[in-house]
Amino acid sequence: MQCPVCDHPDSRVVDSRSVESPAEPAVRRRRECEACGHRFTTFERIEFRLPTILKRDGRRQAFSRDKLLAGLRLACRKRPVTEDQLEDVVVRVEKELSRRADREVPTREVGDIALAALRGLDAVAYLRFASVYRAFEGPLDFLNVVGPLLDGLADPKPRSDG
Ligand SMILES: [Zn+2]
Repeated sequence: MQCPVCDHPDSRVVDSRSVESPAEPAVRRRRECEACGHRFTTFERIEFRLPTILKRDGRRQAFSRDKLLAGLRLACRKRPVTEDQLEDVVVRVEKELSRRADREVPTREVGDIALAALRGLDAVAYLRFASVYRAFEGPLDFLNVVGPLLDGLADPKPRSDG
């Protein structure tokens, strides 16, 4: 990394830490010019390499974070879910997808990853989102999604009062 003061081409990293922003994961590096000793800071953005999405009708398209976010917002309308939490869901989906970047990923799989993240946030939003992404065709589809939610409710919380 070139020094902004003397244009010397090499600098040494003196400190490196990740920046805690789920929306834009980044690494902050403190650098020192090897020639003049000037210290400066750089940010490295992490760019996700994302797979092609295979739609139900057989068409292919690039993953759209905006579309996913719009779908999530719709599912979370009037629910106690913040925009930050939705961003977290999208980032989680992007991270998961980036691991599968070498193949085509069906829409449903994208929905499943988002659902897994949504499940802990809000049960109503989870069901709304599931009904869209899994294209419910009947009560059995619905039960398959509600089932895991009920399991969660049935888990007895450890009691502290003995
Ligand atoms: Zn310098």
